[in-house]
Amino acid sequence: MTQDTTQTYDYIIAGMGAAGLSLAMRLKTSNIPFNKILLIDKDLKNKNDRTWCFWTKDADAWYHSIVYRKWSQFEFISQDFRKVFELNPYSYFMIRGIDFYSYCIEELKEDIRFDIRTEEIRGLSSEHNLGVLQTINSTYQAKYLFNSAFRNNLIHKNDINYVQHFKGWVIETTDNFFDVNLPVFMDFRTSQYQDCRFYYLIPLGPNRALVEYTGFSPNALPSEEYDKKLHHYIENMLNIKDYNIVEREYGEIPMMESDYVNPYGPQVINIGTAGGSSKASTGYTFYFIQKNTNSIIDKLEKNERLVDLKRSKKYKLYDSVILDVINKNSVPADKIFTSLFKKNNIADILTFLNEESSIWKDLGIMNSVPLLAFVKSTIVKIKHLYA
Ligand SMILES: Cc1cc2nc3c(=O)[nH]c(=O)nc-3n(C[C@H](O)[C@H](O)[C@H](O)COP(=O)(O)OP(=O)(O)OC[C@H]3O[C@@H](n4cnc5c(N)ncnc54)[C@H](O)[C@@H]3O)c2cc1C
Repeated sequence: MTQDTTQTYDYIIAGMGAAGLSLAMRLKTSNIPFNKILLIDKDLKNKNDRTWCFWTKDADAWYHSIVYRKWSQFEFISQDFRKVFELNPYSYFMIRGIDFYSYCIEELKEDIRFDIRTEEIRGLSSEHNLGVLQTINSTYQAKYLFNSAFRNNLIHKNDINYVQHFKGWVIETTDNFFDVNLPVFMDFRTSQYQDCRFYYLIPLGPNRALVEYTGFSPNALPSEEYDKKLHHYIENMLNIKDYNIVEREYGEIPMMESDYVNPYGPQVINIGTAGGSSKASTGYTFYFIQKNTNSIIDKLEKNERLVDLKRSKKYKLYDSVILDVINKNSVPADKIFTSLFKKNNIADILTFLNEESSIWKDLGIMNSVPLLAFVKSTIVKIKHLYA
């Protein structure tokens, strides 16, 4: 006789990255009734594999006890424009991956309702109104299974699918060099290669900073290309000759026009990048993960049926238009961003990029970028998205 080894939970969270842990933390403090939640990841989440930067108006933004750095201003630099922006009412935040993983996992371990397991997920499905997760040795089921581990896209013909790719080094200098109060949000003093390239710099101390070279393009670059650019920036633009690289970071974030789809059935809800939380025109994700987590919690509290997130048509169109203008290179990307930062109030730009702007503010933003190219791309993209 075979034994039924299927284990049943109220909810399963597949993937313990930014989205999975954010959802678990919100469930922990919510009024949603549950007895047992399974959290499962193939990794132990004990490495500092990324840092998250984001901006919000909320002074006590999420996870304030582990915010690594917080700034009230940042600088934008291009060939012909340079400005320090006071971000009020926003602040710019940085959270280190390792601090986030450790903090969340410690908090969740103290709550006996959470069962944390390290196993490789082999499959997800919906069966008999339950989400089912398969590992090599076990089967788990729950009324909802939240997936951030597997990403699936429906690629339409003519979709623009870019990637934001970047390499960063934390460097230490012999002399004090950095202004700890002033991160560089974007530094466009580099060739655009018919797509979009820039540097950014996050000061971590007077002689310590994270310096990144990043691109928005169809494909990532060979590793040595980032190294060359980073050396050039540090030595020739920042004029630092004496430095040590003490940490390295590499990442790729999808910037996709294509829709994220759910092949696993109605009891599996995709979250995080897998659920479309990465903004197609910037790659910023952490803020949208928090917003989308709140909306899941809200629905569960109201006992409403959950479905995968649908991105707002308005912002989907804007993202597509920006990608199209960059892709066609109808205006070089550094010129677009320079116009944007030169002609708009910084709070309006940040609100727009966080997808919280009014249509009136949107019109102001659109009016500040090279109009002809944007109108042409808008017509193309309206046809593409609504065909
Ligand atoms: C280096 C880097 C820097 C970034 N910086 C920023 C930033 O500054 N600001 C911002 O807004 N966004 C940033 N992002 C983008 C985005 O915020 C992150 O990628 C974020 O971690 C996405 O969260 P997620 O939960 O969707 O995916 P992840 O955090 O990648 O979590 C997915 C989890 O699923 C697990 N998993 C995958 N497959 C399996 C399997 N078969 N079995 C079990 N577990 C599995 C993985 O181990 C992982 O823990 C960055 C991304 C990277 C890579």
